[in-house]
This record gives sequence, structure tokens and C-alpha cells, in this order.
Amino acid sequence: MIRKTRLFTPGPTPLLPAAQFAMAAADIHHRTAEFRALYSRVLAQLKEFVGTENDVIILSSSGTGAMEASMSNLTSPGDRILVLTAGKFGERWTALGKAFGCAVDVVSAPYGQTFTLEEVKAGLKLETRAVFMQGTETSTGVRHDVEGVAKLLKDEGSEALLVVDGITGLGTTHLDMDAWGVDAIIGGSQKAVMIPPGLSYLALSDRAWDRMEATYNPRYYFDLRKERKNAKNGESAYTPAVALIAALGASLDYIAAQADGDLREGRRKLVDNAETIAAMTRAACQAMGLGLFAPDSPAAAATAILAPEGFTSTQFVKAIRARFAAIITDGQGEMKGQIFRIAHLGYFDYLDTIALIGALEQVAVNDLKLPGVEFGTALVAAQKVYAERAAAASA
Ligand SMILES: *Cc1c(COP(=O)(O)O)cnc(C)c1O
Repeated sequence: MIRKTRLFTPGPTPLLPAAQFAMAAADIHHRTAEFRALYSRVLAQLKEFVGTENDVIILSSSGTGAMEASMSNLTSPGDRILVLTAGKFGERWTALGKAFGCAVDVVSAPYGQTFTLEEVKAGLKLETRAVFMQGTETSTGVRHDVEGVAKLLKDEGSEALLVVDGITGLGTTHLDMDAWGVDAIIGGSQKAVMIPPGLSYLALSDRAWDRMEATYNPRYYFDLRKERKNAKNGESAYTPAVALIAALGASLDYIAAQADGDLREGRRKLVDNAETIAAMTRAACQAMGLGLFAPDSPAAAATAILAPEGFTSTQFVKAIRARFAAIITDGQGEMKGQIFRIAHLGYFDYLDTIALIGALEQVAVNDLKLPGVEFGTALVAAQKVYAERAAAASA
């Protein structure tokens, strides 16, 4: 049979066709009125997508570039910072903090779990200058409690800035930066916004901009104040990734069109879409007797599924790819072989979801011969979840 290559990976994610066309047509110079109009429009749209009144900055880099920019711009050498980590991306915050000379305190939870607010409180010190965390930890499929941490910092009267890697949280999780008092939130282009890798973006609070007046870690290409100044005039400091910015505009138009042009409402619908797909996937896997790696705080960005006794996750990843050319991901680092991950962020719909669950069943029955699984087991469970959620949404 024909095998269409399809991504079910938590970045890069499937591309929106309208965004691909916009990219191909983006033959414009970045110091022209045409580009300034495009850039100003996309920056304004991004504020709606993030759901903030704060300025948003776009950088030409993958998501880690904006993580680095938040570290280099918001800290000085010797600053005490607190990293909340329960996976590979949390560990990246620790590495970045050390690279920029910070004194890094760490609150960690085992992979597949999240930290409690009591643990965060115990890790917070009077001198803590900033707290770094993920909205969703993509390596384990866990959602962290950003609202809870933000409230804790307020209640404790902490001076610490709260910096959130929302790279897979944005577009899959209801995050309210302004109301909660988050100081920086970071996104990446190859995730829920349905375009190729190469752009990162971040929104920063007034408190964060004020902090930058005094911090002195080295920065040059990722100097956020310089970018902000240029962005006010519709430009970026250096040559921007023009084609990706055009793609981002088309993608944000598409998300707005899901709610009659209201981008904030369109983003809420995108989050609900991911949540429905995640719930269908969890139900399907459980019906096949597969355990969830993060049963207590699952993210809608991606689901991490435990390989059953006697099997490795790599067998699932390879069989799905060999039979159907669908790409799901193995665990990262020491989780390789233990879990496989299926993404739900961005341009996935009901048909994609049912098809992948059907493929999983086919592989479980035919290739791996998982005991107790027959055709229909997983699909019935997913169908029921979809029907319940669709009925609730239209009620
Ligand atoms: C994808 C991802 C990143 C960024 O990775 P890049 O490869 O630099 O784009 C950071 N944090 C999380 C949670 C991610 O999912």
C-alpha cells in the first residue's frame, strides 16, 4: 500500500499548507515598508496568540535560543536562580543557568511526575532572583502547575521573576501570563503554530524589562532590548527569517479563522483540540493495556506511553514507521526503550488521530502480538471519548 510520511512528533509538527504557500511567496527585503507591515502585523497577532498585553519578541533560532536569551538578559553572574525540573527540558534550564554563571538551586521530580508547591516553596530563597520552569515537559508528557507556582511567588512576596518555557505549552494549555503574573513565556515555531523550525518568540512583563536595565550577563545577538527597540519600528536588529515570519502570519490567520477572526478564541479552540486528541489517545492506549508514563498530570502537548512488559518502546516506533511511515518518538536519553511519545500539538485533527490509533492497533496485533489486544479495542475507547467531548462542546 501507499505509505504517506506523517509526523506525530512533538516538534517538528505537521505543516499548515497555507503557511507553506506563504513561505514560498515571501520574496521581500527586510528593510522595506512591505516587510515592516508584515512584521508589525505578526507581532501584534503573536500577542493575541500568547494572550498578553506585553510586547512579544521574535528571534531567528530554535526554541533554545529564546531560552538562552531569557537567561542571558534576565540574570547576572552570581545570581541565585531556582530551576524546577522533571525532564530533559528542565535540565536544559540548569545547564543554561550554569553556563551564564548563576548559582543554580534545583527542585526536581522523577521523570513522569511533577513537583509539588511545597517542594517549590522549600526551594525558594530570599535571594532567588528568578525561577525557571516548563509549562509542559515534552520529554515526559507532563504538565506543570504554572499558575500555582506564579501564585506561590506572589504569596511569598518573592522578588523572583517567573520564566516559563511554554514551547509546547503554548497552544496546548490554557496559560494566562498577565493574570497570573508570569514574567517571561517562550514559544517555538515548530510546535503548535504549525510551521517549520527556525523561529522562537518570547513575551516579557514590565518587571522583566526593568530587570534587564541592571543585569549584565554577556549578550549580543540575543539582546532583547535591542530587538524591542527595532520591533517598535517594524524591524528586527539583524536579517530576520523572512519566510518563516510570513508563514507564522498565515498560521495565526488560520488559528483566528477557527473562531471567526478572534485569535484569542481561536487559540482556546486549538488548546481544546489538543486536549480532545490527548484524551482520545490516552483512552486508546489504556484500552490496549498500555500504561501512561504521566497518569497524574498529563500534558495535552504529547502523550508518553510505557512499553509493556517484555517489549521496548523502540519496537513500537520502528513498527509504526516500517508499516505506515508514521513517525512517533522514542524516549529521550535514559527513557529510550521505555516510553514512546505521540504529539497532539498544532495541526492534528480527528481523522489523523483515529488513523494513528488504528495503526497502533494494527502493529500491536500483527507485529508485536500484544496479548489481550484485538482489532477495535483502542478505536472503540477513542470513539467514545470523542463523542462525549463533542456532545459536551455543543451542549
Ligand atoms: C522543543 C522544545 C524546546 C526547544 O527545543 P529546540 O530544539 O531548541 O527548538 C524547549 N523546550 C521544550 C519543552 C520543547 O518541547
